[in-house]
Amino acid sequence: MSDRPANGSADLHLHTYFSDGTFSPEELAAQAQRQELQAVALTDHDTVEGCAPTARACEAAGIEFIVGTELTAEQDGHEIHILGYGIDVQNAKFLGEIGKFQAVRQNRIREIVQRLNQINVPLQAEAVFTLANCRAPGRPHVARALVQAGLVGSLDEAFERFLKKNRPAWVPKFKMSAANATELIHQSGGAAVMAHPGLNRSDEVIPAMVEAGLDGIECFHTKHSAATAEHYLQMADHFHLLVTGGSDCHGFSKGRPLIGSVRLPYERVEKLKARVAERRAATVRHFPE
Ligand code: AMP
Ligand code: FE
Ligand code: FE
Ligand code: ZN
Repeated sequence: MSDRPANGSADLHLHTYFSDGTFSPEELAAQAQRQELQAVALTDHDTVEGCAPTARACEAAGIEFIVGTELTAEQDGHEIHILGYGIDVQNAKFLGEIGKFQAVRQNRIREIVQRLNQINVPLQAEAVFTLANCRAPGRPHVARALVQAGLVGSLDEAFERFLKKNRPAWVPKFKMSAANATELIHQSGGAAVMAHPGLNRSDEVIPAMVEAGLDGIECFHTKHSAATAEHYLQMADHFHLLVTGGSDCHGFSKGRPLIGSVRLPYERVEKLKARVAERRAATVRHFPE
């Protein structure tokens, strides 16, 4: 008999300090335990670096851990985030491909800093890399470095004055296509899920993503209203997609930790795990070592 609660719930969208969150793996596991979550997934941006340590911390805390990542992609000019669940984190092709996107992120930090320097904001790229201390640094790390150096008063000020689109230090990011991201996840034995579709309301790209093999859609998310969640539940039904959900908690970086504020019934986790098992089996057939 399982010692897990019968009606457990999960939070399948979480970040640690291996991307732009603030939680360590141990903090994430402790917070998950406080929230009495049965299962959690780690979905750091463009990396799986945090998966092994978070799996260990969750195991020690008696919480089921699901491997994940959140790939930044693009479809018809829309930035789309694609969650990859259950991927084999040792897969050489997967690590090689996300390595390229990690290099893109690192070069982008250097460009952002150059632009800041051009407008006499004396930040150094090394200060950002030291603070980020991970392979997939992003604008939130630049914002924190600016606050730390006393060059702005807050993270919001950093984005408003310098970092958001069309501000002086904004640098676009090269992204893979949504179809390539989906294929990359599949060939690594994972299931591909469209993250927070309600954030950019890019519904028109969904049919093409379904065509490319999308497995699921994140209906429940901190920034989805009940009506938005209902809208995407209907969409999932229409396209026969799996339903997932998560808080998108970034730890303490954006105020109170959100972990556990969005709870996915465990039955939905089981369906996701079944799909991952199918994808794994297909990988063995189509991409033998
Ligand atoms: P990047 O992947 O480097 O483009 O950075 C994206 C991250 O920056 C996401 O995690 C966002 O939550 C965060 N972000 C974007 N815009 C803002 C903003 N105006 N204020 C604070 N954080 C932001
Ligand atoms: Fe983020
Ligand atoms: Fe996202
Ligand atoms: Zn996220």
